[in-house]
Amino acid sequence: MSADATPAWFAKPQAEIRAAVAGDRLAHGVLIHEDPGAGGLLLARWIAQLANCREKSRAPCGECQECRWIAADQHPDVLRLSPEEDSIQIKIEAVRAMIAELGLTAHGHGYKVAILEPAHALTDAAANALLKTLEEPPGRTLLLLVSSEPRRLAATVRSRCTRLRLPGPSRGDAAEYLKAARGAGPWADALAATGAGPFTLLDADPAALAQLRHDTLSTLNEIGSGNLQPPAVAERWARGDLTTRLACLESWVTERILESASIRDATHLSVRGRAPNICRLFELSDAIRDMRKLAFTTINKTMAVESLLWRWARA
Ligand SMILES: [Zn+2]
Repeated sequence: MSADATPAWFAKPQAEIRAAVAGDRLAHGVLIHEDPGAGGLLLARWIAQLANCREKSRAPCGECQECRWIAADQHPDVLRLSPEEDSIQIKIEAVRAMIAELGLTAHGHGYKVAILEPAHALTDAAANALLKTLEEPPGRTLLLLVSSEPRRLAATVRSRCTRLRLPGPSRGDAAEYLKAARGAGPWADALAATGAGPFTLLDADPAALAQLRHDTLSTLNEIGSGNLQPPAVAERWARGDLTTRLACLESWVTERILESASIRDATHLSVRGRAPNICRLFELSDAIRDMRKLAFTTINKTMAVESLLWRWARA
């Protein structure tokens, strides 16, 4: 399997799309709701290939010119809209240019396709500009919106799209996929470090992430057992790659919450007192998430990390 191979967890959404195409009821606007890092952009490209492949009997073949151009993001009829490099938004000018392009005759014999990713990056004005095209698209046009956070997308846009769900794979399947795409490495630990799906790790250094997770866990253990004090750790963490460290921390707290919930389910009330304090874990998780949003501002990072670690020491 190469990095281009279709991931096993695409099977269900792909079957849904094939059924819609077979029944001639594929919507003009499809909102691909992916779990973070599950590969929504690759699934969008697959749909574009299905609509444009020259080998109708075995589409998408992956080998014809149309399929290869789409895979390489070079097909003249398949437009890709993402935030510009210096921005986190998809702006109205870009959407207007895309709409104008969709109105032109296709270069090939297939569909004109626009892939918007991530779709929640559309500004309000850009989303508004898109509405008419979603409602009355030019013939043989497909709009594919990819988002891991569809709630951040305007309700008016959401309601005009058919929803296609792309759940992420199990950690085992994700590790297998990365191993096939990138070669051997501590992928399971690397995935656990960030808590996100495999597509966020295609360019990552798995050994460095696994080491970060190991360091984070052993440090939390030391703090939990009173061998280390938060101030001694906070400065070191704040100086390093804080974004990844916070992702690692959030992933780990989420695991503890799930574990704690399953202990309660399995044992009812008899050992309730021995389960971790789940309310505190939720508070800690919220605090980490809040801080992840602030990590790039000028807040005093060391103080903020120290405050998080005190929360952990008391959890
Ligand atoms: Zn093809």
